[in-house]
Amino acid sequence: MTYQVSSYAYGSWVTPTGTDGTPILDASTGAVVALVGDNGLDYARMVQHARTVGGPALRVLTFHERATALRALGKYLNEHKEDIYVDYGTTGGTVADMRVDVDGGIAVLFAYSSMTRKELPNDTVLAEGRPIGLGEANLAQTFYTSPHGVGLHINAYNFPCWGILEKLATSIIAGVPVIVKPATASAHVAERVVRGIVESGALPAGSVQLISGSIGDLMDHLGGQDHVAFTGSAWTAAKLRGHACVLQRGTHFNAEADSLNASILGPDAVAGTPEFDIYVTGVFREMSSKAGQKCTSIRRAFVPAAQVDAVIEALRAKLAKVVLGDPRVEGTRMGPLISPSQRDDVAEAVRTLMRGAEVAVGGPDAPLSLASGDAEKGSFFPLTVLKATDPRATELHSVEAFGPVCTVIPYADPADLAELVALGQGSLVASIVSYDKAFLKELIGAIAAYHGRLLILDRDNAATSFPHGAPLPQLIHGGPGRAGGGQELGGMHSVKHLLQATSIASSPSALMALSSTWNTGVTPTRTQVHPFRLYLEDLQLGDTCFTGSRTITLEDVEHFAHFTGDTFYAHMDEEAATASPIFEGRVAHGYFILACAAGLFVDPEPGPVLANYGLENLRFVQPMYFGDTMTVRLTCKHKGTPRPGATMAEVTWDVAVTNQRDELCASYELLTMNACRPTG
Ligand code: NAP
Repeated sequence: MTYQVSSYAYGSWVTPTGTDGTPILDASTGAVVALVGDNGLDYARMVQHARTVGGPALRVLTFHERATALRALGKYLNEHKEDIYVDYGTTGGTVADMRVDVDGGIAVLFAYSSMTRKELPNDTVLAEGRPIGLGEANLAQTFYTSPHGVGLHINAYNFPCWGILEKLATSIIAGVPVIVKPATASAHVAERVVRGIVESGALPAGSVQLISGSIGDLMDHLGGQDHVAFTGSAWTAAKLRGHACVLQRGTHFNAEADSLNASILGPDAVAGTPEFDIYVTGVFREMSSKAGQKCTSIRRAFVPAAQVDAVIEALRAKLAKVVLGDPRVEGTRMGPLISPSQRDDVAEAVRTLMRGAEVAVGGPDAPLSLASGDAEKGSFFPLTVLKATDPRATELHSVEAFGPVCTVIPYADPADLAELVALGQGSLVASIVSYDKAFLKELIGAIAAYHGRLLILDRDNAATSFPHGAPLPQLIHGGPGRAGGGQELGGMHSVKHLLQATSIASSPSALMALSSTWNTGVTPTRTQVHPFRLYLEDLQLGDTCFTGSRTITLEDVEHFAHFTGDTFYAHMDEEAATASPIFEGRVAHGYFILACAAGLFVDPEPGPVLANYGLENLRFVQPMYFGDTMTVRLTCKHKGTPRPGATMAEVTWDVAVTNQRDELCASYELLTMNACRPTG
């Protein structure tokens, strides 16, 4: 009996019992691999399960605890990735494609785990920036918190693993449980991914559910705390965006839709230059990788008019060497498309593109040259290069042939090029290959607004750069306009995208309690002992040391200048210093002030403060002249949390250096590494 793909709902696996269903076909042979039958799911119950079981369990975890869970999940999946690999060849993906999808997806989990620990607090709320004053005893700050909803993740067929994991990563960090709905054509691989997630036990119960097949009436149950993260065609995105949950109830809708990505050859990069070769290699790679079924693939290759034939010839030579066939057969370089319907869609799209272009290589009617696989029942499509005959033909800038297809389009000059690029109406990514910095600056200014990511390649960085088509978790993945207007990846940007921002106005002490960060509106606490003598657990926000004073002298400044070699005019030349628009005479070095401040506030004996870790946000607000007397206030501003198993954590101190008139001369945040109280 043919394998029925299961769903995972309300904490259990649910497998259709019938023998009917939508068949998933082996992309190379056309054999039925699995069925996606009537799943019989109770969608309202799934949403309820996510909201009442997964959401609360995730929201009590701090950002760091969620990051730790994500890391544990990544570790488990990495150790069990062979289980996901098993059926991968049936999708038409080669081993290289599979590694991008599976290993790349797992890498996103590790990346988000690491970025979260570095950039977010070990807390359940995230405070943005600094408090702003709203008159006496009133401050305000914006805070991000987890919405009390669920994320419905609808994914495209082309990355059944990466697609699940990249969206999961940001949602879990944001504290939002997810319901994953993979595309039917690769639902059997997606099921393996979710089995791995469930078996890992890394995430709290209710964090992840899976719908194989239709989502039924699920969107009827979504509201203003929920989000839909959709990846797929612009057509489906438009349809789902029109649902009442989005239009009337305010469900957040993030779309990653199709995109007519560009790659641009600079006018300087004529045949024979390193940039020309880099360009051709990039276009070739994106055409053949995943058989061109990548949302980031290069669809429009913009080339100076005089270089069009040279580029096509260079591509032809490279493409001719690609071994097309069943990806499970050794030596295959490119596999088939996912399904016969996808093959037919691509053929039709190419025919539409041919209203403004002619076939230069391959094409829908070219005979297939297969090393393996079934030419009739498999879903193979030849590598196809089109040459634009009408560079402004609407089709070239609006029709996505989601396969190994690229159109080479000539441009006359940078202004013409910028206009042509913009005709795509918004893309995920564009690459520009040029060594001409003036051209780059002009072009980037003209086209950046149409893109989520730009990749600039030249002879200096190409060999070590990531490719055009690789969305990195740290960089924005998403694009304006036609590309959907979403922002699925992009470091903490995309996590904040999922959180609710709330501005909170309150008293300084209430704000301190909320942000776990002391602010200058809260009266500092003079401690019995120097705060450097307090272990992490004993130190309180606001604990302060007010120092003695020190008078700045000419001799000290001269000594510091000659001792360090810093004989900048402002410290050494009275006439020049007086003539400057900033100073009224010779001034003390800022670094001397910092050193003297440390001399005033440091408590020297070994103790809980183990090391100086650095300083941030340093400002020299006004100069100190010879004869000025400085004092320092050192206040505990924020306490870090020790990593699991560690016995120390970072402490941030607010430091204010003032003169004898109580005027602020320097301010900064000092970072120290502080020990926990010894146990036992
Ligand atoms: P698709 O046909 O639009 O389907 C995308 C997803 O939507 C699938 O899971 C599909 O499920 C689901 N879906 C379709 N109709 C639905 C409905 N009425 N209600 C709920 N869900 C529905 O796209 P695809 O063919 O899978 O993927 C290819 C397209 O995705 C290309 O255009 C490509 O550019 C785009 N893409 C974009 C990105 C990006 O990051 N921007 C990434 C990858 C792919 P079924 O399969 O069950 O119909």
